[in-house]
Amino acid sequence: MNHNVVERWQHIKQALPSHTQLIAVSKYADISDVQELAQVGQQDFGEARPQQLRDRAKAYPDLHWHMIGPLQKNKAKYVGKHAYMWHSCCDLDVAAQVAKHVQGKPLPTLVQVNISGEPQKQGIQPNDLPLFLEQLNHIKDLSIIGLMGMAAKNTDAHASFKLLHQCRDDILRNHPEAKELCMGMSNDWQQAIEHGATMVRIGSEIFGAKQG
Ligand SMILES: *Cc1c(COP(=O)(O)O)cnc(C)c1O
Repeated sequence: MNHNVVERWQHIKQALPSHTQLIAVSKYADISDVQELAQVGQQDFGEARPQQLRDRAKAYPDLHWHMIGPLQKNKAKYVGKHAYMWHSCCDLDVAAQVAKHVQGKPLPTLVQVNISGEPQKQGIQPNDLPLFLEQLNHIKDLSIIGLMGMAAKNTDAHASFKLLHQCRDDILRNHPEAKELCMGMSNDWQQAIEHGATMVRIGSEIFGAKQG
């Protein structure tokens, strides 16, 4: 039993407002730690690699597996088939490919926005959001429920989170379903909450730093 993982999780849970959902990012976590958290009530887990998401979703279909990492077209099927939510939608071709593999109801999807200002980072530029959302509208098997963003490391996250909040407010007029604001990781989730995050994605603060 890894009591530390549960303790750290409880600590974060207690600090989160009731309207903020915790996605436990398990991309580097042992499955035993995931099981441990599932037993105490954590249902939502974030994965960055499509094959690992598929494998874990098949093994633990009662848990919710969120795809949070960059995605290429050739791996899109795993997300369409197995993800509970897709957080990193920022390419139309990939989106169409994911949608092809969705079975049943549309896949809840967040559009990733580049809020850090770093050109090499992925995400739609804030100015391009209205057009991108309009194009996504034609993909019926994805249901756009909000925005996701990442602040730059080692910089003040406030400006980035404020920007994502602003983007969300701007698109709500034409996209009233796009209410979710998914932002905040281990090093900046408190700031994200100050800026109205409805979901945070926390990995290392729960599971410990990546091993090896
Ligand atoms: C890994 C990852 C996280 C979690 O990062 P931590 O700093 O370990 O909390 C959150 N979001 C995305 C997109 C990630 O890839």
